[in-house]
Amino acid sequence: MTTPIISSEPELGTAGISRPTGIDTVRVADLITQLLVELGEDPGRTGLIGTPDRVAAWWNAFLSPGGAATATCFTESHLNDQLVIVGGMSVWSLCEHHMLPMNLQVTTAYVPNGEVVGLSKFGRIAQHFAARLQVQERFTRQLAEHLTGVIGREDIAVAVRGLHLCMSMRGVRMEDARTTTVHARGRFRTDPVLSQQFLTVTTRQWAAS
Ligand SMILES: [Zn+2]
Repeated sequence: MTTPIISSEPELGTAGISRPTGIDTVRVADLITQLLVELGEDPGRTGLIGTPDRVAAWWNAFLSPGGAATATCFTESHLNDQLVIVGGMSVWSLCEHHMLPMNLQVTTAYVPNGEVVGLSKFGRIAQHFAARLQVQERFTRQLAEHLTGVIGREDIAVAVRGLHLCMSMRGVRMEDARTTTVHARGRFRTDPVLSQQFLTVTTRQWAAS
């Protein structure tokens, strides 16, 4: 069974949060050139020649990460009720309040019910929701809600630990600050043993990284 990644997005309750499907890189490069001028730079000096084009190309790549459009599920009826945790995933996103990078360490968990999900898909789905102007809290919810659709049941948990450069290199400048968000659904909300197993594995992985 395959589940399109994109198709469930309008159901995520993210009305008003649109995602660019492609950008005019020539126009963006021109705007970067204008920005450099406004910042007091000379876009014609040696070090900056090509910078606007590189920045525009980066934006285009960032907003269009590509990758899998489908999530593959495999029938494994014997694996029901096993806790599956996929951790150690790291994605880069951009804080929408400051347009500065945030690195998100992602751990997901689910309980299979007749099918297991191809493990690499978790990383690709995380990249999909990271490739935009974001906030960590929304990213966490979007990932959990999308995985619910992929797996076809509510037994999903997502934990994210974020390093936000808007907090590290500006503002309070706290380089060691990390923001943790957890979104638990289904049995991860109602079963304290399952919830504790998930959080224990997650925090151990984070402590080791
Ligand atoms: Zn920020």
